[in-house]
Amino acid sequence: MKNIIFDFEYLAPKTLEEALTLLSQYDEEECKVIAGGQSLLILMRQRLITPEYLIDIKGISDLDYIKFDEKEGLKIGALTTHRAIEKSPVIQKEFSVLSEMEQNLSNVETRNWGTIGGDIAHADPCGDPAVVLIALNAKIKMTGSSGERTVDAEDFTLDYFETALHHDELLTEIQVPTLPPNTGVKFTKFSQIVGDLGLASVAMLITLDENKETCSDVRIALGGVAIAPMRAKKAEDMLKGKKISDALLAEAGQVASEETSPTTDVQASEEYRRDLIKVLVKRVGNEALARAKKA
Ligand SMILES: Cc1cc2nc3c(=O)[nH]c(=O)nc-3n(C[C@H](O)[C@H](O)[C@H](O)COP(=O)(O)OP(=O)(O)OC[C@H]3O[C@@H](n4cnc5c(N)ncnc54)[C@H](O)[C@@H]3O)c2cc1C
Repeated sequence: MKNIIFDFEYLAPKTLEEALTLLSQYDEEECKVIAGGQSLLILMRQRLITPEYLIDIKGISDLDYIKFDEKEGLKIGALTTHRAIEKSPVIQKEFSVLSEMEQNLSNVETRNWGTIGGDIAHADPCGDPAVVLIALNAKIKMTGSSGERTVDAEDFTLDYFETALHHDELLTEIQVPTLPPNTGVKFTKFSQIVGDLGLASVAMLITLDENKETCSDVRIALGGVAIAPMRAKKAEDMLKGKKISDALLAEAGQVASEETSPTTDVQASEEYRRDLIKVLVKRVGNEALARAKKA
C-alpha cells in the first residue's frame, strides 16, 4: 500500500542544545520540528509539507514545566501540553482564563498530545492560546544557537501560519505577568462544532481603579478576524478611564468589529465574522468586568 506520508529521517534530540544543533545543520526546506504533531501531521498527510528530516522535540523534558511566583509571574515551557495547562492547580487559581480556554480546545486526545508552543508556532489565525496570551500581555521566548530573545505575544504572529521565529530558533517559553489587583479576564470563541477552532474569538482583560468604579486598563484581543490574532486598540481607548456600562461595551464592540479585516470562506462570511465580534466584545466585556469587580 502506498504511504500517505512521504518518507523522512526521524531525529529525536533529548536536549535543547542538540535540537538547536540539528536545526542549524539543515535548511528550512529540508527539515521541520515536530512537538505533539496535532497540526503538523495533518499538513504532512495532505503533502502540503514534505520534510526530509523531522526533528522531534517532544523528548526535551526541560521544556515541559509550569512555574509561578508573584514577582516573576507565570512561566510555561513550550512543550507543556494543553491538558497539563487545563489541569494545573496554579493556573486554575491564578489564571483561570487559560484553563477555561484549554477546556474548550479540541478534544482530550488532542489536548493530551498538543503543546502550547506548537499551537502558537503553528500560527493559525483561529488558534485559541495566542488570543488569550495577547490579552494577558504575555511574552514569547525564543532560543537559537546565538542566544535568546523575547517578543510581545501580539508581535509573535506575522501572517497566516507565519511567525517571528527564525529557522534556527525554537519557541521555548511563554511568560505571563502576574495580574494587577481588581483585574478580570475572560475568553470566548464562537465555533460551529463544540471544541473546534472558532470562527471568531475574543479575550478581554479589564482592570478597575481602587474604588472599582472606572476602567484603568483594558486589553481586547481578537482571533479569526485578521491574518493574525490582533488587538482592538480603538475599542480599548473608548473604555479606558471610563465607567464601563453595557451601552459603552456595545459601542466598543461596534468599533472593534470595524478594526478587523476578516475574510469570507466556506464557514462564514466577512460580515458574519464582524457581527460575531460586535456581539462577543459586549458579552466578554461584561463577564470580564464582573470578574474584575469580584477580584
Ligand atoms: C481535531 C483538532 C482540533 C483542534 N482544535 C483546535 C482548537 O479548537 N483551538 C486551537 O487553538 N487549536 C486547535 N487544534 C490545533 C492543535 O491543537 C494545535 O495546533 C496543537 O496543539 C499544536 O501543538 P503540537 O505540539 O501538536 O504542534 P505540532 O503539530 O507538532 O507543530 C505545529 C507547528 O509548530 C511548530 N513547532 C512546534 N513546537 C515548536 C517549538 N517549540 N518551537 C518552534 N516551532 C514549533 C512545528 O514545526 C509546526 O510547524 C486542533 C487540532 C486538531 C487535530
